[in-house]
Amino acid sequence: TRFQRTTGGLWRSLSSTAGVSTMLLVDHDNKHLSPTFFSAITASKKLGGEVSMFVAGHKCDSVVEECLSIDGISKVIVASDVLLEHPTAETMTPLLVAAQKQFSFSHILSNHSSFGKNIIPRLGAVLDVQPVADVVEIRAENHFVRPFYAGNALMELKVSEKPVILTIRPTAFEKHAKLDEKKGTVVEKMDFDAPKEAIGSEFVSMKVPEKGGRPDLSTAPIVVAGGRGVGSREKFEWVEKLADKLGAAVGATRAVVDAGGIISNDAQIGQTGKIIAPELYIGVGVSGAIQHVAGIKDSKVIVAINKDPEAPIFQVADFGLVADALKAVPELLEKL
Ligand code: FAD
Repeated sequence: TRFQRTTGGLWRSLSSTAGVSTMLLVDHDNKHLSPTFFSAITASKKLGGEVSMFVAGHKCDSVVEECLSIDGISKVIVASDVLLEHPTAETMTPLLVAAQKQFSFSHILSNHSSFGKNIIPRLGAVLDVQPVADVVEIRAENHFVRPFYAGNALMELKVSEKPVILTIRPTAFEKHAKLDEKKGTVVEKMDFDAPKEAIGSEFVSMKVPEKGGRPDLSTAPIVVAGGRGVGSREKFEWVEKLADKLGAAVGATRAVVDAGGIISNDAQIGQTGKIIAPELYIGVGVSGAIQHVAGIKDSKVIVAINKDPEAPIFQVADFGLVADALKAVPELLEKL
């Protein structure tokens, strides 16, 4: 299906990349770039033209250094303040609007992580532009593909508004390679005027979930996910043991996360959780609801263990085992 957005007046074809200049919002933890951000770098290069990076943070010199080691970046804009240690949409938006005013970027881009999903909608509203979320393909500088209906259909669209604001699905783009040496990129400091009044939200605290040394779910090459069929917290330990045996990350369905007391909600995979694309995904006691499959369908190999032969997960699985997970997983562990 071909969709063409009609809001914002006449559609204007942008056939060359001559006028393209992109501001890429840097997703980081004040020490390092987020692993999924490297896909957004690749996407920004696909647009052509100049790419600038925007870093907001606190004591984030090592992040700026990492940005400077990426080739083909024309400048790194840095805003540093204690209030930006954990940037919120409310603190970031005025800064981004000021940068946009100064540099008139044609594109503003972020990865489709909780960082980008938080900031981009507010920025779009303030700039009065409809962002295009979760882009999986860039065909031209105003021509994109994104999934909708929980990944069951792809929408192709052309954007007529400026600036074009995008979030990029990390699993859809290769990670840009890191370089060891610094490039001659310009660093621009931006002043941050701390808001004098309440701005609607305030960072209170952040709890980093205990991963027990397991790899990160978004980027792990192997993921073992548990569904409601696994049952209780006690039984879920079988999923974790299997993951540890394989050096895998642990994921879960929303049913498990919502049950509470089994695993934290950052382990949720799916439409409203993480979108993953590992080499190997093993779903244990997972039914395969479309909202869950939306998060796993780009996995290279999908393995399902479910006692119901009619479970929808078997329609997307490369290998299926019809078995009681609580018998099959201990047996599998023994063999492994
Ligand atoms: P169930 O559907 O209950 O499936 C359990 C499976 O375990 C069954 O197939 C059963 O046969 C099997 N089973 C039972 N006992 C055993 C056993 N002993 N051994 C082996 N197999 C066994 N869900 C997500 O996961 N992620 C999302 O991001 C997400 N977003 C959503 C967004 C919206 C708007 C909505 C409406 C729903 C969303 N859901 C999401 C929920 C989704 O629709 C399903 O309810 C959920 O994925 C089901 O989880 P489940 O497979 O663990 O549980």
